[in-house]
Amino acid sequence: MQPLSILVIGAGIGGLTAAIALRARGHDVQMIERDPTWSVYGVGIIQQGNVVRAMTELGLIDDYLEAGFGFDHVEVFIPTGQSVAKIPTPRLVPDKPANVGISRPALHKVLGDRALGAGAEIRLGVTAQTIEDDGTKVAVRFSDGAEVSYDLVIGADGLYSQTRQTIFPDAPLPEFTGQSVWRYNFTRLPDLTGLHAYEGPTGVGLVPLSHDLMYMYLTTPEPGNPRYPRESMAAAMRDKLAAIPAPAIRALAEQISDDDGVVYKPLEWLFLTGEWHKGRVVLLGDAVHATTPHLGQGAGMAIEDAMVLAEELDRSADLEAALSAYRDRRFERCRYIVEASRAICLGQIGRGPLVENATATREMFAKAAEPI
Ligand SMILES: Cc1cc2nc3c(=O)[nH]c(=O)nc-3n(C[C@H](O)[C@H](O)[C@H](O)COP(=O)(O)OP(=O)(O)OC[C@H]3O[C@@H](n4cnc5c(N)ncnc54)[C@H](O)[C@@H]3O)c2cc1C
Repeated sequence: MQPLSILVIGAGIGGLTAAIALRARGHDVQMIERDPTWSVYGVGIIQQGNVVRAMTELGLIDDYLEAGFGFDHVEVFIPTGQSVAKIPTPRLVPDKPANVGISRPALHKVLGDRALGAGAEIRLGVTAQTIEDDGTKVAVRFSDGAEVSYDLVIGADGLYSQTRQTIFPDAPLPEFTGQSVWRYNFTRLPDLTGLHAYEGPTGVGLVPLSHDLMYMYLTTPEPGNPRYPRESMAAAMRDKLAAIPAPAIRALAEQISDDDGVVYKPLEWLFLTGEWHKGRVVLLGDAVHATTPHLGQGAGMAIEDAMVLAEELDRSADLEAALSAYRDRRFERCRYIVEASRAICLGQIGRGPLVENATATREMFAKAAEPI
């Protein structure tokens, strides 16, 4: 396809990856980001071999690995602290780790620096007020008063996507699962060289993020979706951790003292079973398939979406065919991640059959290894 003028709405993980992949193919890319400070909260995420593979294809692998912590195994524990499985994880790129823990600000910096360095433009603190597709161009009126027309608009504006609301006003809304996650950063324990996952209704994990940093996640049943006051977040997280007798977790719980350092999030999910585009406006990432984090693949799916979308725009001279082909290539893989993650979540809180963590993780690694 000839180079297109493209607007990316939302400069998060998926939007930035789209900007990088599209600039590499010569498209003109402008981004808008609602957050005037363009900031992300300070805890980390886990990514697997499919993201290492994607970062390699995007030419970002050295910066990415330098910003994170690569590792090759997942160790599963029961709440008393006894190790029950050490799952080797497949390397998809020779000589590169099978998994990476990385802080969100570090990942955003790697992606943001490359997107801007490659010539994508960004305007911060700006949203799209109207999006009008006349079949040949999409006219966008922005919150700062500007009006510009594009060949294609990409909605990468996350779980509560305004773009989704605009093109699919009847789409389902995100649904709360009944479970929330608590996260906190610590100095990395010297022996934490892989993901440590503790099974049970209160799930805990320890993830290395860099030589010096790791974070803990804690999933808890939260019927009724209660709100916790900011000034008692540290005490609340310590209380929730009391359910885990493992000595390593007990010792870390005592260090949780900064209320503002606790990042609390009710877990929601969403999956669009219908079209992912309408005319010249297309959605990617959490805007169209938001997963709970139990398999650590939400950001991976957003990154892969962006790469496949850029590829399909190259393959076909017909925009409609390219956007349909993008959705066809992504649909089953994303649905698997959303449904398998949600099944683990619901099993943990007694709303579905208990899913064995080690088995689900092995299966996810096999699926993630498949070509996209
Ligand atoms: C608790 C939790 C833990 C997670 N852990 C992991 C993990 O370990 N591994 C993993 O791979 N994934 C994880 N995920 C999932 C991952 O965070 C998401 O899948 C990923 O961020 C999706 O990227 P995105 O670009 O689609 O959306 P986002 O990252 O949400 O980015 C959307 C961007 O759009 C901007 N925006 C929103 N509305 C507008 C608007 N109207 N106009 C302009 N800009 C707008 C936002 O400010 C934001 O910058 C986790 C998710 C949660 C909730």
